[in-house]
Amino acid sequence: MAAATLELWKVAKRFQGVVAVDCVSLTAAAGRVTGLIGPNGSGKTTTMNMITGLYPTDAGHIRLDGVDIARLPPHRVAALGVARTFQNIRLLATETTLANVLLGAHRHQSAGLLDVLLGLPAVKRSEARETARCEALLELIGISHLRDVPVGGLSYGDRRRVEIARALATKPRLLLLDEPAAGMNFAEKQALADLVLAIRDMGVTVLVIEHDIEFVARVSDHIVVLNFGREIAAGTPEEVRSMPSVIEAYLGTEDA
Ligand code: ADP
Ligand code: MG
Repeated sequence: MAAATLELWKVAKRFQGVVAVDCVSLTAAAGRVTGLIGPNGSGKTTTMNMITGLYPTDAGHIRLDGVDIARLPPHRVAALGVARTFQNIRLLATETTLANVLLGAHRHQSAGLLDVLLGLPAVKRSEARETARCEALLELIGISHLRDVPVGGLSYGDRRRVEIARALATKPRLLLLDEPAAGMNFAEKQALADLVLAIRDMGVTVLVIEHDIEFVARVSDHIVVLNFGREIAAGTPEEVRSMPSVIEAYLGTEDA
């Protein structure tokens, strides 16, 4: 599958009078990494939740390769090749790394329900293929040694990587990462940056939300800056970092 183009046009969302996203327009170009940054509460996660169908939009359009997806439920958006990771990691703690990643691969099993019920050889072949594919992903991400370890006991950085592996197992055309570097040490962030670039080079469009501006600048081809639910700047990492409005928005918060 080819990398997808994502376009948001004047997207808005409010919660009981609180304007979470006021008016956001952005394009995540096919096969590129787009960074979405901004202080806490600026509407980044809400934007991602609207893209993935978790929240319906109040206004505006969200298009994936020209098709409006703003009103589709999450499973329909996922079926179009959109995968994500969560700001608060969501994995099955008592299951192993491989089992969690296989969950992402599940929808690609080619065997039908009847084959499964009858325990036909086609099922075993399909399972073996998916397992091999997931093992290759663990290798790519550098977590093969954690294959049989329950994820509940893993470090924060490792659990984030398992989540990325699970998202990749769905064979996405667009990957959305919500603060993937949060809680990672310097070396882990370096490895993650290389991984994001490798994912892009595999032909996946990436939209990454991050607080760590160094990280975003390193991986992004294009950066969009939000503040109070509005886009305040956009451009290349170099352009955005020198903009007074961006410096001001970032100086206003402790942890940005
Ligand atoms: P960010 O990810 O940039 O930190 P969010 O998108 O999480 O920001 O939040 C933007 C604003 O919307 C915040 O004021 C937040 O409290 C509010 N918000 C987000 N989700 C909800 C929700 N489900 N219900 C009510 N308010 C929400
Ligand atoms: Mg957030």
